[in-house]
Amino acid sequence: MEKNCLFCRIISGQAPAEFVYKNDVVVVFKDIYPKAPVHLLIVPKKHIRSINELSETDREIVSEMILTAKEIAKKNLISTTGYKLFFNVERGGGQEIFHLHLHLIGGWI
Ligand code: 5GP
Ligand code: ZN
Repeated sequence: MEKNCLFCRIISGQAPAEFVYKNDVVVVFKDIYPKAPVHLLIVPKKHIRSINELSETDREIVSEMILTAKEIAKKNLISTTGYKLFFNVERGGGQEIFHLHLHLIGGWI
């Protein structure tokens, strides 16, 4: 928990968000400025700044994020039509919130 991190504050309930899923490792909530009909963020509870800061011991977190994304896509009925999963990494990669998150976007068709 980093007290100046927006996503840590959302995870701990100190800032609001529209959650769609939570487990011991990750939470999923709606992006406040959706760039697609479905735009969800899969966020580990552990504060990790970006993909660059992942360590060998974070393997389980990364796989949980991807498997959760797959399940949430299915729940949102976009599995078959298709969707995008992506990480923005650091400023040059478009990252604005420096707490690791996987974007799940879709629902165009
Ligand atoms: P990044 O650019 O860091 O990969 O993505 C951060 C995402 O967080 C953006 O798509 C942005 O719209 C979203 N975002 C920024 N502030 C908030 C917020 O307060 N609540 C929620 N739910 N999403 C946010
Ligand atoms: Zn954080």
